[in-house]
Amino acid sequence: MEFNKVLDNCKIYEAGKPIELVVREYGVDEKDIIKLASNENPYGTSPKVTKKIQELAQNMFVYPDDSMYELKEALANKFDVQSENVIIGAGSDQIIDFVIKAKCDENSKMLMSKTTFAMYEIYGRQTGCEILKTEDDEHNLEQFESMYKEHGADVIFLCLPNNPLGECLDKEAVYEFLGKVDKDTLVVVDGAYQEYATFKDSKKAINPADLIEHFPNTIYLGTFSKAYALGGMRTGYGIAQTSIIKTMYKLRPPFNITTLSLAAGIEALKDEEFVNKCIAKNFEEMKRYEEYAISKGFSYIESYTNFITLKFDNKYISSEVAQNLLERGVIVRDLTGYGVNAIRVTIGTQNQNTRVFKMLDEVLAQLEKVENL
Ligand SMILES: *Cc1c(COP(=O)(O)O)cnc(C)c1O
Repeated sequence: MEFNKVLDNCKIYEAGKPIELVVREYGVDEKDIIKLASNENPYGTSPKVTKKIQELAQNMFVYPDDSMYELKEALANKFDVQSENVIIGAGSDQIIDFVIKAKCDENSKMLMSKTTFAMYEIYGRQTGCEILKTEDDEHNLEQFESMYKEHGADVIFLCLPNNPLGECLDKEAVYEFLGKVDKDTLVVVDGAYQEYATFKDSKKAINPADLIEHFPNTIYLGTFSKAYALGGMRTGYGIAQTSIIKTMYKLRPPFNITTLSLAAGIEALKDEEFVNKCIAKNFEEMKRYEEYAISKGFSYIESYTNFITLKFDNKYISSEVAQNLLERGVIVRDLTGYGVNAIRVTIGTQNQNTRVFKMLDEVLAQLEKVENL
């Protein structure tokens, strides 16, 4: 059967490996498996959110509130914007889809960093548009600027901080760049990890209200999947000028998130204390990864997120490290597919990380032995 031609150039997204697969394929006991491949919050969901979800479980025969009034109000309050500036998506992934469909067709161009969030390219290809990437792995605004000057772009993606590498541009530098972008180019500022970056270094903090006021051609994306520990709920949002939001509403399917996903977001916003505690622990534990990398003589990318990218240069092959860890029940993300010899490890709980170091010790020793044979 023939399908839409643009799909010939589309790849299927490969999510982090699920726990069930490791049980099945490697016979590891389920309780021994550590999943640090999808940047989930390892401390679980706030108990207040769980309680609310349990209460609501009886209402599932009713459609969700399609106006999403309460969640939009809560976000508008948090970020000091109007609820007309907010759109809710099934994860911020869905907002990325809306943004691209709103701007792109087969004659359009998208500009992004070489090694960045995979969904930009995946949704981009569905429109048949041209995808331009800067040369460096990490975000380099000089390269963004020169490529933009040379080729132009309908949409530019800035992932701040960047997944899967963890680096983050300073707000000042971002603003300076945005000042040079044409007002008809839509710039997406993906803030999936902004809560972490803001905690670590105020120079990285992007304030969505300030952003869209100064640069009306931008949209800020946020998610409940990471710091707010709601990956399973699929709740994300976009903040932009009303004309952009209204256009995206034309693309939004009705009831695009569930009653439970809405309630989870609303409750999660009431428990900022939980989120802040998780973030503080995240950076305490991240220090241990940095020290571990130094002690083993390989490098890492300074991270402003809840994960760290360990680079093996020519010491080890990242796919071998990842595979050997997997067989021991530790699931991490190998970045070979991104053209980088590195693994991305979500920062786990203290106990999980201690086990990761032990397993890594074993794996690295074994790989060295093989090499020396
Ligand atoms: C996780 C993530 C998202 C969105 O996740 P959702 O679960 O769809 O909200 C968006 N951008 C980046 C960079 C991410 O890492």
